[in-house]
Amino acid sequence: MSQTELPSSRVNDINLSGLSPQSLYDKCLALANNLWWSWHPEVTNLFRDLDPIRWRQLDHNPIALLSEFTPERLEMRAAELVLYSRINQAYRRLKEYLSSTRTWGTTHVGVLGSKPVAYFSAEFGIHESLPIYSGGLGVLSGDHIKSASDLGVPLVAVGLFYDQGYFKQHLDHDGYQGEEYLDTKVENIPMQPALNDHGQPLTIEIDTRTGKLYAKVWLMKVGRVSLYLLDCDVEGNSPEDHQLTSRLYGGDRRTRIRQELVLGVGGVKALKALNITPGVFHLNEGHSAFAPLEVVRQRMEDDGLSFDEALRSVAQLTVFTTHTPVPAGHDRFDGSLVEEHLGPLRDQLGISYEQLMSLGRVEPQNQSEPLCMTVFGLKLSRKANAVSSLHGHVTRRMWAHLWPWRVEEEIPIGHITNGVHVQSWLAGQMQQLYDRYFPVDWFDRMGEPETWQGIHKVDPGELWETHQALKNLLLAFVRRRISRQCRRRGESDEAVEAARNVLDPNILTIGFARRFATYKRADLIITEIDRFAELVNDPDRPIQIIFAGKAHPADEPGKQFIKKIANLRHDDRLAGRVAFIEDYDINVCRHLIQGVDVWLNNPRRPLEASGTSGQKVVLNGGLNLSVLDGWWAEAYDGSNGFAIGNGTSHVSDEINDARDAKDLYRVLEEQVIPLYYDRDIDGLPRHWIKRMMNSISTLAWRFSAQRMVMDYVNAAYLPAAGGMSCDMTVR
Ligand SMILES: *Cc1c(COP(=O)(O)O)cnc(C)c1O
Repeated sequence: MSQTELPSSRVNDINLSGLSPQSLYDKCLALANNLWWSWHPEVTNLFRDLDPIRWRQLDHNPIALLSEFTPERLEMRAAELVLYSRINQAYRRLKEYLSSTRTWGTTHVGVLGSKPVAYFSAEFGIHESLPIYSGGLGVLSGDHIKSASDLGVPLVAVGLFYDQGYFKQHLDHDGYQGEEYLDTKVENIPMQPALNDHGQPLTIEIDTRTGKLYAKVWLMKVGRVSLYLLDCDVEGNSPEDHQLTSRLYGGDRRTRIRQELVLGVGGVKALKALNITPGVFHLNEGHSAFAPLEVVRQRMEDDGLSFDEALRSVAQLTVFTTHTPVPAGHDRFDGSLVEEHLGPLRDQLGISYEQLMSLGRVEPQNQSEPLCMTVFGLKLSRKANAVSSLHGHVTRRMWAHLWPWRVEEEIPIGHITNGVHVQSWLAGQMQQLYDRYFPVDWFDRMGEPETWQGIHKVDPGELWETHQALKNLLLAFVRRRISRQCRRRGESDEAVEAARNVLDPNILTIGFARRFATYKRADLIITEIDRFAELVNDPDRPIQIIFAGKAHPADEPGKQFIKKIANLRHDDRLAGRVAFIEDYDINVCRHLIQGVDVWLNNPRRPLEASGTSGQKVVLNGGLNLSVLDGWWAEAYDGSNGFAIGNGTSHVSDEINDARDAKDLYRVLEEQVIPLYYDRDIDGLPRHWIKRMMNSISTLAWRFSAQRMVMDYVNAAYLPAAGGMSCDMTVR
């Protein structure tokens, strides 16, 4: 599959096909209605070219864009821009993609062919125009289903539709985070009501002790994958429940358990109503851990099994992935909330309140212990995994008391390290370079190490120029955003003008963007502010840094971190060399990871389960500078980036933070900065470029979502579906 088949000649670019305006329009709509377009730059560019200004204003949403066109106006625009063959070709490629039988999956998925994987997640980060994600977990889910689609792995996905999504972030004059929730226009979202047997829009219902809950079901197409989204804004619900699925991670404990009831139990009911019989249930994080209970109920009803028999057989089919070693990241619910929401289901299962609670407790008999969704997921699945090698160790230790009779190595939690969907994160210009040096079918084989060896054949000057071009695009983006932020805050013309000129393409540029949870220590690099200012202002070898990230609305310490970072702009010593971009999302992330020289990651080890943003940086030639935590602990080999610390941590946070800050400065001063500014006679940093190449060749394949999904198929899905045993392997 070649991604760059743009029309080489424009001779054919007239409407030879005799397409009517309406059928041209319909082809564009068909493209917009399958999110396949979002990972094909040539299709994205097609939409953008129709109206570049509106495209940006509409958050890159093609449905919203097309709704502003009549078929006739679209045809005029297509004629002006000679777009016919591009539209036809994109449409043909989508059709070919959807009907292709020559995929990896055709020969590798065995029993899954007739019974798909059902993949549950509370968020899906697919594209910025679809605000149903908040951060890393959602983007991982999005990348997982895109890769499953590309590989031809039979998979259906289940999530929630949030009509307000996650908040938009604006900082006030003092740098304090404000949150704004915007209503999503459903008609601009590429989804249709899912239909039941009778061709009617499907609604599912769930009994609780305090009345019924209803949810309608949407269908969204993500390549070959169907993503079903449950939405409580439906007739029959109380006014309060109409809002139940409005916001991602909003509301109180009761809202949370009700959302998780809809996702897990409602999701399984929806699949049944759609006549989908999954061979595997993959619970991506604890939010959906109620799902197996409903599957058990169906087994009891359909196959006449006892609760214990059904539980055993359902656990066999269930794969559970846990994502965080941070205690607050694990949902816990009091008995009264559990009884209110799962009481009727518990009656049908014929189990007692204590039995149900004990499935979510570390100590089954401890009546004061709440129900923990992670414990629930671990107990209701036979296959559980963490998301990096180090996270595997930490997770086994963390939950060891669930298996008191086993030594740590025998705790049944493996690991499959996260990866990223290459086509979604690789810059078009970098891709064109790879196309020239890599095997022709490299897009189908990006999970294999050989595929990426071609990078060592690339001319260093060409790689550097491509990187510089991407860096310039990033700086233009930052300037546009920062000056807009200044204007919105009503700042002076001088301030806006200054914002238009921040940053310098010739300076070593560091990026730091992630959720502002305190353990991620966004302020580590300013621990010694004078020393930082000296680095920034070094006359020969200066540095500059771009920050972005949201804090959870309830995370006051996180918001104070943002304030501290945002207010660096008032320090004259740092003027023009430190930037904070508001409203971090997939779009901001894409610009950052495609353009930075260095990606900084300095969490308190071992709290970062994996992290994926640094993997996106790798694809585009940036270098990671990171604490040896999460994926980086298994990725760093001494020649493919930079490491902070030596992979140990002190029990005292204070000592740990001081040590890591010191080492961060040391690595910057002794390794990163000298290497970057070490130029040859042509002005090229040869040794730096060598490290970029090492990074790409050793890391890109290993931390691709294609490798990740193949690992899930081999080590988790197939054993779960077929009963084969196979350990989650360390690669
Ligand atoms: C990739 C991505 C993340 C995950 O990054 P981490 O390395 O886990 O911090 C978070 N948010 C967005 C918008 C992303 O695109």
